[in-house]
This record gives sequence, structure tokens and C-alpha cells, in this order.
Amino acid sequence: MLEQPVLHPVRFAGDQPALRQRNLAALLDLLRRHTTLTRTELAQMTGLNRATITRLVRELIALGLVCEDGVLAAAAGRPAISLRLNGAAGMIIGAEIGFASVSAIVTDFTPTIVTRVERKLRPDEHRDAALDQAMNAFCAAYEAAIRWKRPVFGMGLGVPGLVDAATGTLLFAPNLGWSDVPLKQILEDRLRIPVLVDNVASVSALGESTFGAAQNHRVVLYLSTQGGLGGRIVVDGHILRGASGFAGEVGHMTVAESGRRCNCGRVGCWETRASQMALLQAVRERLAAGEPSTLRDAIGDPAQITVAMVAEAAEQGDNLARSALEKIGRWLGVGLANLINMLNPDLVVIGGALSAGHQVLLPAIEAVLATEALRWVREDCEITFAAHGADTCLFGSVAAVYREVLRQPQRWI
Ligand SMILES: [Zn+2]
Repeated sequence: MLEQPVLHPVRFAGDQPALRQRNLAALLDLLRRHTTLTRTELAQMTGLNRATITRLVRELIALGLVCEDGVLAAAAGRPAISLRLNGAAGMIIGAEIGFASVSAIVTDFTPTIVTRVERKLRPDEHRDAALDQAMNAFCAAYEAAIRWKRPVFGMGLGVPGLVDAATGTLLFAPNLGWSDVPLKQILEDRLRIPVLVDNVASVSALGESTFGAAQNHRVVLYLSTQGGLGGRIVVDGHILRGASGFAGEVGHMTVAESGRRCNCGRVGCWETRASQMALLQAVRERLAAGEPSTLRDAIGDPAQITVAMVAEAAEQGDNLARSALEKIGRWLGVGLANLINMLNPDLVVIGGALSAGHQVLLPAIEAVLATEALRWVREDCEITFAAHGADTCLFGSVAAVYREVLRQPQRWI
């Protein structure tokens, strides 16, 4: 099943409500991408006639989503008025439950971050205590959003596990040890705003397609390296959901016959070889075995090591850090070679925690792809890292709400 995309304009739309809706969404999306545009430019870009554009823009201004920005000098004839999205139209909350923290951002409608909230989670924390911490952070974000005295459109939330996106229930999060948590219901009862809950890879892929590195790409493989390893396939801006909604769970692809047991219960999963968890585990084991490294001196407690610390040590010539990252990069390359051969994407976006190691990871990945991926598919595929870095999931959660507002502006105002 393909998810509804941010829609392209349709000519000859007449006044049919569904097509008018689609055209309103298209104008909003163009204004978001280009910051300011005139009515004439919107007509040229969409192919819609000037009268239709005038009518649609009038409606968007009345809804408060678009405002007139200023008068531009015209070469000839009437002066042109530039239009832009009205940042003050409303606020959106983007949230994430991670393995070690919960975080949320509040953005305006452009979307620019105005507030950030973060709370630490202890890995051994009981589910109810961790949920309390999460609620605490999300309520703080909501309080910050309502202080602007603008509508709060809703909250998006990315979580690391299998999610029934229709009901917003977290079905199973092996790395958190949570199952069957009706997050959407809990949050909507508490905050009284619409809440959209989805898997971290889904919202991140949506975010990169809407606001980030994957804009204007046709077939995108998004790889989420936050904790474990997940993925999503995006075709023409739509997430490929699969029959049950879980397409893209690439972390449990078998890449070896033996090795460490995965949290899913099997051995040989890609996630056990190429993930944030795999990197940190390998570094800690090598430090415990007595290998020399600047990491040992920099941090007393190996449990506190992060990917960013390993990446920095690698860049400064630390052998342990560099070789650990390179090994993760090679395993990323092995899995990606299979996926690229299968999907023939024009872009692979790697997001999440491992992004911090991109300077070492990318050459290692590309070295494997050079020999393991089919030349013809490899040549057309760019490998890049998420534009929003550590905020990829948070911006994706914002994108989930944002796209709904764009799709049916009247319903959300
Ligand atoms: Zn697994």
C-alpha cells in the first residue's frame, strides 16, 4: 500500500472539493520549498490559470496559512506581491522516544524550531517510569507550544519498534522491552491534540523526503541507525508500507550464519553487525580487552561512550576507534549492496546515530559497494547522510503532522 503523498497540482480542477484540496496542498508545498513566490510564479510552476491561483491563494490567506510578504518591483505592468507561508499559522510538536532519552521540538509553521525539550531515560528503567518521563517531556513541549497563543496543529511521535500507524499503538519495541502500548490514545487523552505515532524509520524517511536530503528523489532507501537498524523505502514521496505496514525492517535481514544473538531472537541479523549498538558494543569489548585507545583516557566509564566520541577519536587518528567504525561501514556496505541490487534506488539516506561517523563510514561503505553492487545500479545511486543529523526523527515527526495539514488545511485549522 502506498501512503498518500504531498500532492501535485491538477489542471482543469474546476471546483470539485477533492481537486481543490489537492491544489491548495500543492501551493502550500511550493511556498514551503521556495520561501517566497508571487501568484504569477505559482501559476507558471503549477500550470494552473491565474484566476484559479488567485482564488486558491485568497482561500489560503483566509485560513491564515499564507500571508503577503511585500511588493516586488515589476519590470512591466502591475507590481507583483510576494507570498510566503505564515509561520504564525500554528505550532507543531515533533517528538521521539529513543533508547536513552526522550525529546521533543516545537516548531512554527515554516517549520522553524522555537523550543526543545529533552529528558534522559535509564536503560534499566521500568516501562511505566520511562513512560512517565516521556509524558513529562511531551507535556513540557505542549506547554511551550500553547504559550505562543496560536493553534497547536498536533504532535508527531517516532518510536523504535513496530507500530500500528492507524491506531498509533506501539506493538513491539524489542530494544526497549515494550509491547502493546496505545501511545496515540494515551497522548491524545492527556494533551487533547491530534497525535500521529509511527516507527522512527517511517517518520525519519518522511522528514527527509519532505524537508531534507531526499526531496526531489524518486526511489529512496532510508536507513535508520538509531539504536538498532531499520529502514524505509520511499517511492515518489510515498512510503512503501507493505501488506501489514512493516515493509523495510531491513535490520533483521540475515547477513551471516553465526554471531551474537539479535534482540529478535535470531542470529546473523544485519543489525548485530552494522548499528549504533554493534559499534558501541565492539568498542567497549576492545577497551575491556586492554587495547590502547585515547577513548579510555577521555572517558572514565565505557558505558558513557557515544558514536560522536568514537567518530572524533577516529578523526584524530585513534586506531581502535577508526577500525571499529570501518568495520561497521563494511557491514553497512554488505547489506546495502543487496538492497541496492534489489531496489535500484537513486538515493540512499543514512540517518540516526551513526551519521556522526560519516567521514569514516562513507569510504568504507563505498569500497564494498564498488565490488558487491551491480555496476549499473551503483552508478545511479547516491549515498548520503540525513540533512537533519541527530534531529532527523524529530523533524520527521513534525513532517508527519505538517503533511496532514497540507493535505487537508481546512480540517486542521
Ligand atoms: Zn534480528
